[in-house]
Amino acid sequence: MTSSLNVPPNAVKQARDVERLIVGQATSDGAGVKLTRVLTQPLQRRLDPFLMLDAFGTDNPDDYIGGFPDHPHRGFETITYMIAGRMRHRDSAGHEGLLQNGGVQWMTAGRGIIHSELPEQEAGRMEGFQLWLNLPAKDKMSAPWYRDIQSDAIPEFSTDAGVKVRVIAGESHGVQGAMQREATQPLYLDLYLPDEASFEQILPATHNAFVYVYQGGLVMGETTVPSQRMAILKNQVDRDGAIMKAQGPTRALLIAGQPLNEPIAQYGPFVMNSNEEIFQAVADFKAGRLA
Ligand code: MN
Repeated sequence: MTSSLNVPPNAVKQARDVERLIVGQATSDGAGVKLTRVLTQPLQRRLDPFLMLDAFGTDNPDDYIGGFPDHPHRGFETITYMIAGRMRHRDSAGHEGLLQNGGVQWMTAGRGIIHSELPEQEAGRMEGFQLWLNLPAKDKMSAPWYRDIQSDAIPEFSTDAGVKVRVIAGESHGVQGAMQREATQPLYLDLYLPDEASFEQILPATHNAFVYVYQGGLVMGETTVPSQRMAILKNQVDRDGAIMKAQGPTRALLIAGQPLNEPIAQYGPFVMNSNEEIFQAVADFKAGRLA
């Protein structure tokens, strides 16, 4: 859904600085799918409530054709954003959906789910992201849930500078995103910036925030953020948002959220608050109680 509107004044008075730049780690997951892990386990505390960000992008079917056969999750949410390509999702709760070209799948694993994510193409480009968003302790054992959000159901707007903004979650310049989450208040924006265009976004200082550039480059204060880099933004009490300026045509994700400040215990696809809960998750999975 695209709306033409008078973007309300939303000026950032003092922008946050970049704390550091992160280079993703090339890895593979599922049945040999090649991907770049941008947000890795050592950054989970710093970027609470976000647990992981994977970027995948390739024209070579050998890099993705195996997909992600049946595997479990417990204790958090997975948000898959498909830029190009088609992925079929099936889960043990009986849900099935096709994720494609600009669409998002928002899945709450809650107490547990077993699902598969398999490419529904044998050639062509596959590009997208999977973000893991933590659940508060009180919701980790909630019923599993999911929603497929087709591309035309993601709110979009354009700024006077010509920046196209897709609001997957949260709110930007008065536009409500496709999803809202009370406990973590996630903001998830996909930005298309023309050369030299600037964009600003109000952010609460206590929310952890990062930018991932996947095409082009950005200047943020004194820092240049090249393509394939994540910029972690400092939490500064006197700063009220982020300002970025494109160097060449640029595409980037801006992601922010309210930290949970709860213990994080991860073992593979299970993210709980304690080791005891992890042992329980593994035992439940082995006993077939996640299906
Ligand atoms: Mn999965």
